[in-house]
Amino acid sequence: MGCEAKPEAAGTLKQGLKKHDKCLKCSGQAKVLLPYGPQKFCEKHFVELIEKRFRKTVRRYSLIKRNEKLVVAVSGGKDSLTALYLTNKFFRNSNKIVALLIDEGIKGYRDKALKLAVKNCRAWEIPYKLVKFKDEFGFTMSTIYKKMKKSVINLGSPCAFCGTLRRTVMNRYAKRLHADKLITGHNLDDELQSILMNACDNDLARFLRCGPISGVKSFEQFVQRVKPLCEIPENEIMLYADFVGIEHYSGYCCPFRSEAKRNAYRRIINSLEEQYPGTKFSLWNFYMQIKPILLKSKGFAELTLNECSRCSEPTASKLCDTCRKLALLRKL
Ligand code: SF4
Repeated sequence: MGCEAKPEAAGTLKQGLKKHDKCLKCSGQAKVLLPYGPQKFCEKHFVELIEKRFRKTVRRYSLIKRNEKLVVAVSGGKDSLTALYLTNKFFRNSNKIVALLIDEGIKGYRDKALKLAVKNCRAWEIPYKLVKFKDEFGFTMSTIYKKMKKSVINLGSPCAFCGTLRRTVMNRYAKRLHADKLITGHNLDDELQSILMNACDNDLARFLRCGPISGVKSFEQFVQRVKPLCEIPENEIMLYADFVGIEHYSGYCCPFRSEAKRNAYRRIINSLEEQYPGTKFSLWNFYMQIKPILLKSKGFAELTLNECSRCSEPTASKLCDTCRKLALLRKL
C-alpha cells in the first residue's frame, strides 16, 4: 500500500508483441505478452485471466466465505482499488463490503489518491470510512518524517513507521466495523519482497506471517487479513486496472518511497524475473510449500499473539510496535 510501481511497468507486458500476433484464446489481436508462458492475450481474455486468478486464490485458500462482512483497506493506488473492484464484482451479492480509506497525511500524494478512492466508492456504491493518522495518533507521516530527520538517532526508514501505524489502523477499524475479514491489495511482488527481506533479516516470525492469510494463529483481537491479489504480479494488476477502467492515482510517487528498504528487493526480484521468466511464481510456490513445514515443526508452532498492555492491539511482545514507536516520537 502506497508503494506503487512506476506506471510504465504495465507497458513491459506489451514489449515483443508483433502487429499480427493473435490471442491464445481467440482470433483477436494480442495486446498482452506474458513472458513466463510465453502466452499472448487480447484485452478481453487477459481480463478474464486475471479475474479467474483472483477467484482461484480466494477459493484455494478459503479467503472469503459467504455472508462474511468484508472491510477492504484502500489507499487509492491501483492494487487496493483493484482489490475493492474485484471484491465488489464477485461478492457484493453474498457479502457486506465496506472500504476503509487510510490517510497517512503525506502532503501532495495521499490526498490526491484518496480523492479518487472516494470517487470510485461512490461510483461503485460501496460505503466507506476515512481514517486519518493525525486523528488516530496525533501525527501525520509528514510530521513523523520531519522528526526523524531532526533526530540524532537513526530511526530507519519512514516506511517502517508508516506500515506499523497503518496495520494498527486497519485492525482497529476492521474490529470497529465488525469485519470478519480485512482485505488488502498486496500483490505477488509485495509478498515476494517481504519474504526475501524477512529471510535476509533472519526474522522467522515475520517470514511466517507472509502469504495469503496474515497471522500465524488466529487471535480474538486480530481480524484476519487476507490478500486475494497475492498471486498476481504487480504489472498485470496495473494493466488489468487500465483495461477495466479503474481510475487510480498513478502520478507522483510517495516522497518517502526512495527510502524504503524493499526497493532493493524489488530491483533484485524484477531483475531475476527479467532474466529467468517465471522466477516470481517459482519463489512463491517454494514459500507456500515450505511455510506449513516450518509451522508444523517444533518451536515455530508456539508463536502466539498477546494483547498490548497499553492499547490492547495484538502483539507478539508486551507492548505493541505502534505504542513503542509513538512513545519514541513523543520524546523527539
Ligand atoms: Fe508507502 Fe513508505 Fe510512503 Fe508509507 S511512507 S506510503 S510505506 S512509501
